[in-house]
Amino acid sequence: MKKKEYSVPIQVGILGGGQLAQMLCLAAHGMGIRPFVLGHKTSDCASHVTKDFFIDNGSDDEVRKFFNLVDVVTIENEFIDLKRFERILGQEFADKLLPGVDTLKLVQSKLDQKNFLKKNKISTLEFTEIHKLSDIDEAYETFKGNIVFKKARLGYDGRGTYIFSGHKDQSRFSEFKLNLPANIENFGYAEKLAPFQKEIALITTRSTKGETKTYPIVETYQDGGMCQWAMSPPKIKKSAFKIAQSMAEKIMLNLGAVGTFGIEMFVMKTGDIVINEIAPRVHNSGHLTMNGALTSQFEQHLRAIVGWPLGEAVLVQPTAMVNIIGKKDTQTYGASQIRVATVEKNTWIHWYGKSGDALGRKLGHINSVASTAESALKVAQRQRQKILI
Ligand code: ATP
Ligand code: MG
Repeated sequence: MKKKEYSVPIQVGILGGGQLAQMLCLAAHGMGIRPFVLGHKTSDCASHVTKDFFIDNGSDDEVRKFFNLVDVVTIENEFIDLKRFERILGQEFADKLLPGVDTLKLVQSKLDQKNFLKKNKISTLEFTEIHKLSDIDEAYETFKGNIVFKKARLGYDGRGTYIFSGHKDQSRFSEFKLNLPANIENFGYAEKLAPFQKEIALITTRSTKGETKTYPIVETYQDGGMCQWAMSPPKIKKSAFKIAQSMAEKIMLNLGAVGTFGIEMFVMKTGDIVINEIAPRVHNSGHLTMNGALTSQFEQHLRAIVGWPLGEAVLVQPTAMVNIIGKKDTQTYGASQIRVATVEKNTWIHWYGKSGDALGRKLGHINSVASTAESALKVAQRQRQKILI
């Protein structure tokens, strides 16, 4: 683990230029940290919020130049090409990157995540590895068609996750098989379709000093694999927090993780909690901390990687977040402009200023606070209706 002490100003590099990088930059400026971004195109939304915006044009020199400018480097997206950075930078890459190379190597594969959870006796849904076509049929039989296939690599927002619920999806299942490539040796795994009661996530942070703090449970709701809303604290048994927290913190410790992570979980009908997946970065379910908590997940991440004491991970008030996802009927506006008809009280709009098409993309989010998480969610959803995109 890095032992380096920094004198202010600290220069933090972020690999990737999307909305998570944008919100990390905004938090960094406010803390006296200078954010540098290595994005992909000039229109990346993080380019609006830092003048130190660089484009990864594929050249080794650009990467070397970027790493030379900063004290520490972090990510907004876990799917970075580790081999390429290792080749270009050698030891400097491992010395500057947080979360560390080993943590990312493991978490980049959902299958490795499952094997890690199993090995560490951290509860997760039973799974079976998929390496050949006959594994697919066998798993389908075992789980009686109520089954989820997950690609080991590069899945996000439901892409790479194939959900089938029994008989009614039989023809979709046949189609899924037909579309598979001949070689599926590195496909991933299958697990049962979980009849969960709720989906929750824990936003947890571990610093270079080993200090760990976890925010209260966030309930999340996904549709089509994409997070629609989140709220905290949800209606859930009091004992759930301690159980979920100890699972999340065990994961952080055993991964040697540094930074803010989103740990996604299912609460089963029995009340049992199982881990779904680990996101080694600031997470959509933690966006509500920007207005609902004493320390935002973005500030917490930066504190963790530069070795400052963590802020308290407490909610000031019950809070909710609704994603602004572009809808079909308002496609003509594109993703760059927002049109707001009414602004509700106790509501904050966070707009990413993306360019291009709006349809099906996360364009921003709304946070709201109220006396209960449920009422905050209602207000945030009402605000969503008043945004014409
Ligand atoms: P993310 O957008 O969080 O990166 P992802 O695309 O990597 O997600 P998962 O989180 O594995 O994929 O799955 C997406 C969603 O699909 C989950 O949030 C959940 O709603 C549903 N899902 C995944 N696995 C299961 C399961 N075994 N049983 C029931 N639903 C599931
Ligand atoms: Mg997920």
